[in-house]
Amino acid sequence: MSQDRSFSFEFFPTKTEAGHEKLLNVARQLASYNPAFFSCTYGAGGSTRDGTINTVMQLQNDVKVPSAPHLSCVGDSKADLRALLTQYKDAGIKRIVALRGDLPSGMGVASGELRYASDLVSFIREETGSHFHIEVAAYPEMHPQARNFDDDVKNFVHKAQAGADSAITQYFFNADSYFHFLERVQKKGVTLPIVPGIMPITNYSKLARFSDACGAEIPRWIRKQLEAYGDDVQSIQAFGEQVITEMCERLLDGGAPGLHFYTLNQADPSLAIWNNLKLPR
Ligand code: FAD
Repeated sequence: MSQDRSFSFEFFPTKTEAGHEKLLNVARQLASYNPAFFSCTYGAGGSTRDGTINTVMQLQNDVKVPSAPHLSCVGDSKADLRALLTQYKDAGIKRIVALRGDLPSGMGVASGELRYASDLVSFIREETGSHFHIEVAAYPEMHPQARNFDDDVKNFVHKAQAGADSAITQYFFNADSYFHFLERVQKKGVTLPIVPGIMPITNYSKLARFSDACGAEIPRWIRKQLEAYGDDVQSIQAFGEQVITEMCERLLDGGAPGLHFYTLNQADPSLAIWNNLKLPR
């Protein structure tokens, strides 16, 4: 397995002190695997601003893994974004995941001066030059609000042209969708690394709800098997681990430039896949 691939882990900021302590323990465990970086999500409209800042700073300074805040532009003014960028730059943060974001329900209609992630990428470049390595999101199965697949590919290309360095995909359970997307964007001249986002399967009902919302398809054969397990959590996890490990093998054998694990703040599901794949540590 190539050492220059990028393996990374994503967290979300927690609401409680106890949750935060647990997150840091999980991060310390994952840090011993030597990931390329950690990232931490951001609630669009600034709903987790302090939580994201604190988490990223602690991951980088205390757990000592280079860490990337996610930053989204819906609901944030340019002044808010500029202040965050300055804070991150001054704190030695070198990587940012730049997104449009989705406003949580109840936060009203999207405001903000930047409309799309490509606008945010341009803004970050205008404000901070080449300081940050900018990651953007990619959707092998199409973003749920896109008019059609071609349009979504074009919009992804705009993000690359605006100055993104690499991309992380929405999770998916069908390796072909990733290779198809790659082929389509490469035909348009985009060569930046597109790292598959990997969602371990641990809980069927939550996964089904979340997948509906973000437009990730759970193939029928996986859905039916997970449904058949009912409340048998152990069987769900064992099956999920096998399915995801096999998909990751296909992705890496096919040349994927790394894997980005959506940990949901848990170590074991991602590490089981990491160990099955015998990834470098
Ligand atoms: P964009 O790239 O702006 O695309 C959004 C939609 O607009 C797409 O349908 C696209 O086709 C369309 N579009 C883009 N440009 C144009 C244009 N010029 N004209 C017309 N249409 C256009 N959400 C959070 O709130 N916080 C997070 O921390 C977070 N982290 C994420 C991490 C990853 C790796 C991924 C894959 C997603 C993450 N999300 C997060 C979810 C993301 O914010 C949503 O999917 C959001 O709906 C789209 O964000 P985007 O950056 O992909 O938007």
